[in-house]
Amino acid sequence: MKKQIKTIVIVGGGTAGWSTALNFLQKTINTKIIVVTSKEIPIIGVGESTTGRFNGLINLTSGFVKIDESDFLRKTGSTFKIGILHSDWHTIGESFTSPLGDEFKNTLYYPSESYDYSRIWHVAKHLKYNLYAQSQMMLNNKLPYFEITDDCHYFDEYNYKGKVDYKFNHEAYHLDTYKVGQYIKEKVLSHNRVSYLDDIIVSVQKNENGFLESITTKTGKIIEGDFFIDCSGFSRILIEKEFNNNFISYENELLVNRALPFHIENKENTIINNYTHVTAKKYGWMWDIPLQHRKGCGYVYSDNFITPEQAQQEIEKDLGCKINPQRDIKFKAGRLEKIWCKNVLSTGLASGFVEPLEATSIHMTVLQINHFIEQYYTEHMNFSCEVAIDQYNKEITSIWDDIKDFIILHYITPRNDTNFWKEASSPKRWSKNLKNKLEIWKNRMPRVSDYQGTLSNSFYHLGNTLWYQILIGMNLLDCKIAEKELETFNLTLFAENSHNIRLPIVKWMVENSVDNNIFYKNLEMYLKDYQKLKSAY
Ligand SMILES: Cc1cc2nc3c(=O)[nH]c(=O)nc-3n(C[C@H](O)[C@H](O)[C@H](O)COP(=O)(O)OP(=O)(O)OC[C@H]3O[C@@H](n4cnc5c(N)ncnc54)[C@H](O)[C@@H]3O)c2cc1C
Repeated sequence: MKKQIKTIVIVGGGTAGWSTALNFLQKTINTKIIVVTSKEIPIIGVGESTTGRFNGLINLTSGFVKIDESDFLRKTGSTFKIGILHSDWHTIGESFTSPLGDEFKNTLYYPSESYDYSRIWHVAKHLKYNLYAQSQMMLNNKLPYFEITDDCHYFDEYNYKGKVDYKFNHEAYHLDTYKVGQYIKEKVLSHNRVSYLDDIIVSVQKNENGFLESITTKTGKIIEGDFFIDCSGFSRILIEKEFNNNFISYENELLVNRALPFHIENKENTIINNYTHVTAKKYGWMWDIPLQHRKGCGYVYSDNFITPEQAQQEIEKDLGCKINPQRDIKFKAGRLEKIWCKNVLSTGLASGFVEPLEATSIHMTVLQINHFIEQYYTEHMNFSCEVAIDQYNKEITSIWDDIKDFIILHYITPRNDTNFWKEASSPKRWSKNLKNKLEIWKNRMPRVSDYQGTLSNSFYHLGNTLWYQILIGMNLLDCKIAEKELETFNLTLFAENSHNIRLPIVKWMVENSVDNNIFYKNLEMYLKDYQKLKSAY
């Protein structure tokens, strides 16, 4: 069925629905966008740690809606996220950092551009990967804004002066999901191509070939569309129920299935961290996401081992205070077999959910839509082209499966203090792909060709770097193999020298960067300087 896309109907008004409306508004020209969602069906209300995908959407400069980052941060209370601090995952009492986007570029192009001799050298020397700028900013509560004075020559080759973000790139945000949803909603509705209906969808109408033509709401309205996007969260009202779409469960591989979210209000002296803190607990793990006004926290656990009451008691004992749980969330880890069926695409929780660790859900929400618009969308879509639909589905679902393996990596731990950890770390939970990777890494260090993302999915952005950081943090790589490999390529001394050159620069940057809390008190000033510099490039 060939269709001119005049109207896109988005079902759902959670982070997925509104960010998808923004994405299509920014990247299409004539299309009308209708968001249908109901206040009677609440949003999930969690999901506040992101990756750079969301940041990229907010800061898109070429779209129809302009978002000023300091306005966004000020009105939503969002903060910058540089990475994740993992505590107690390998050994109780120990932590490791995993900075985001700390991509490695081998300037020797030897043995390849992506050969990460730096992280391999850390493995060989049995060092934590936390000595460079992003980790040090995390550990010292700094944001990378500093004034490059005339006597500082570290950055001479870049020719920048004044207060700058040294990478010209903020990595990611922590969000207040309610405020951000409202903010994006107001932005997109300010454009006359987007409209919004608050109503419950009760049925859908299809043509004789099974393509969706319209949806009917509780109040009897019929909304027609050419293309529909299911962002209805775990209800999956279009993409699952209307297309006999199979749910591929990850429940045998990942044990956590329930969450107890709560908030902690900031006090005058609360340090606003620039990282998501994830702490392994007895039967799962706890997230701690810093915003300007509060922290969003939660215990993700398996209810096969403890009850919600026991989960709350454990957290209250560890924190030394009472908590006020917002709700009791049950979830099933897994994804749909097909993300795109006929003229219906899905994103957000409607297409799948692994678990909250590593903030992969909002990452995938934006990535799926980006990939669709960039690689498949045309104003005249042939929704009968099964080959294209299959290709998209294969690309996206293989990323979901790869993310699931990446998450399992966090559970490969010597911890055995509870039955949960004994079960969670069992090799019986490892997929064939993960087993293959771990087998290869017994003989050589990880390389980019080991990931799905480097085959047809080079848009994936979760490859070598993040895997390395978790592998190092969880002590899963063999230092002897790393040492031998660097010797084979004659890179040991080079890696060591590069490391020694970086340390004083990092020290200077951290000493001269702004404290997190001071940054948020003056964020317009810092971001104005940054915008000026950005526009000069
Ligand atoms: C415990 C937990 C922690 C998480 N933490 C993170 C994290 O830190 N980082 C991250 O990236 N992700 C996280 N996630 C995932 C994140 O919450 C979601 O990606 C995000 O909130 C988007 O949700 P959504 O919009 O898909 O669904 P929802 O927020 O559930 O929205 C669904 C929408 O569909 C509408 N709807 C449903 N049925 C109908 C109907 N019949 N008619 C009309 N409207 C309908 C509802 O009204 C609602 O507006 C977490 C998830 C869980 C469960």
